Amino acid sequence: MVWDTAQPYFYLSNTDDNRLVIGGGDIKFKNEKLRDSLMDKKIKALLQQCKTYLPGVKVEPAFEWCGTFSETNDSLPYIGLHPEVPNVYFALGYGGNGTMFSQLAAEIISNIIQDIPDHRQALFGFNR
Ligand SMILES: Cc1cc2nc3c(=O)[nH]c(=O)nc-3n(C[C@H](O)[C@H](O)[C@H](O)COP(=O)(O)OP(=O)(O)OC[C@H]3O[C@@H](n4cnc5c(N)ncnc54)[C@H](O)[C@@H]3O)c2cc1C
Repeated sequence: MVWDTAQPYFYLSNTDDNRLVIGGGDIKFKNEKLRDSLMDKKIKALLQQCKTYLPGVKVEPAFEWCGTFSETNDSLPYIGLHPEVPNVYFALGYGGNGTMFSQLAAEIISNIIQDIPDHRQALFGFNR
């Protein structure tokens, strides 16, 4: 896996079936039309960047997409119970690492349901 923390960032990771997931090049959101119109340019730039990390490897895009995400002020997800919404368990990824946080959300919510103390509730809870 490669993660270049430059702004805008770049990442690539390999899959079990010998393919690559390449992404990055994020910009501030203005509207969907502008975002989508930049796709071709962004794909070219990402492929070019890929070459610098994997020189000599021929990469052909099989699938291309872009999307929009927003972030919380502290970049952390919200996970757990909300004081004003009883019996609802929240797993709100919010942000560029939301998929990673989903694993944590599964563990924390499972612990809450089983009444097992989980110190991470304070970190990711709505009262932080
Ligand atoms: C381009 C891009 C690249 C990303 N790359 C990464 C990455 O490499 N690693 C990483 O960890 N994260 C990445 N993320 C972020 C990650 O995808 C999100 O943080 C994560 O998906 C958030 O999970 P979630 O379950 O909170 O929300 P979502 O995945 O958005 O799920 C919310 C669901 O609720 C549904 N919904 C909304 N409103 C309603 C309604 N009223 N009634 C019923 N259903 C509703 C939606 O259809 C959706 O299915 C990326 C995001 C984008 C856009």
